Amino acid sequence: MILDGIKIRDQILAEAKPRVAALKRPPGLAVVLVGENPASEIYVRNKIKACHDLGIYSEKYSPPTSVTTAELLTLIRQLNQQDTIDSILVQMPLPPQVDAGAVLEAIRPDKDADGFHPYNVGLLVSGAPAPRACTPAGVMELLRRYQIPIEGQRAVVVGRSEIVGKPMALMLLAANATVTICHSRTQNLAEECRRAEILVAGIGKPAFLTKEHIAKGAVVIDVGINRITDPAEAAQIFRHDEKVLANLKTRGSLVIGDAHPLDMAEFASAYTPVPGGVGPLTIAMLMMNTLHLAERRQA
Ligand code: NDP
Repeated sequence: MILDGIKIRDQILAEAKPRVAALKRPPGLAVVLVGENPASEIYVRNKIKACHDLGIYSEKYSPPTSVTTAELLTLIRQLNQQDTIDSILVQMPLPPQVDAGAVLEAIRPDKDADGFHPYNVGLLVSGAPAPRACTPAGVMELLRRYQIPIEGQRAVVVGRSEIVGKPMALMLLAANATVTICHSRTQNLAEECRRAEILVAGIGKPAFLTKEHIAKGAVVIDVGINRITDPAEAAQIFRHDEKVLANLKTRGSLVIGDAHPLDMAEFASAYTPVPGGVGPLTIAMLMMNTLHLAERRQA
């Protein structure tokens, strides 16, 4: 079974729309995008478009790459006070001179669009309601809506970043999975992964998890988004599939996940394709975080 992230995203947004319309004042999201990172610009454009489509008010701030920590803190404090803004997102990565931790901590926890504030991470650890990191929250929503059992299942999360691996593991644990977290120092990674009934890949290496790692019948959630441009690499991964190679030639690149697409399709009982799996859910969950925060402030 292919777990269709686009279908689930559309369901989530359709359910959110009347809730947005029911509020006295539209929810407001402020997005801070520092400098000119083309990938970040695309993400931010998509986030603002999603707000517009849903009736969420949005503001975009674009300080220059030379911005200081102090200047960003001033902006965050101003947004913390602003009544039309319910949630604040600072697009990562920030330039090296900026103290990213200080900036994230300056966001009021009850305006934290991404759930990265240490206070909200603490609430996640203790299982209390709070804005949740959008990508893993999207994975949970996908599993829930496809009625994939989590309780009592062995889940293995590969990757331990603050935005994917760690919150993912905590959310699976809160849903009563038996969770193992793997990372670059894990010994016998394939063996650990093969124990998984639910295998989540958040690594950042194209087609890294192969049939060696995937138990027959496992549910595989591929969070990875990797762009490959090398025809030889694509030919090796896709076993010289002419259609895929022609696609690469036309577009100049292919987006592939952290799990090997052909092995995953062959061995998993259910899996998220890349693209079209986890990716579309991240923005939907950002909209949901903003909606929840607005509902709480207006209650
Ligand atoms: P990070 O680089 O922050 O983390 C990668 C993790 O993978 C680290 O914990 C690292 O271990 C682990 N890792 C690296 N190499 C290996 C290895 N050989 N064996 C086992 N573990 C390894 O990446 P992110 O968490 O930010 O992102 C992960 C992937 O998810 C990326 O492809 C990214 O593009 C994608 N992503 C997708 C999103 C979406 O919306 N779908 C949103 C965010 C990210 P260690 O800690 O030991 O270094």
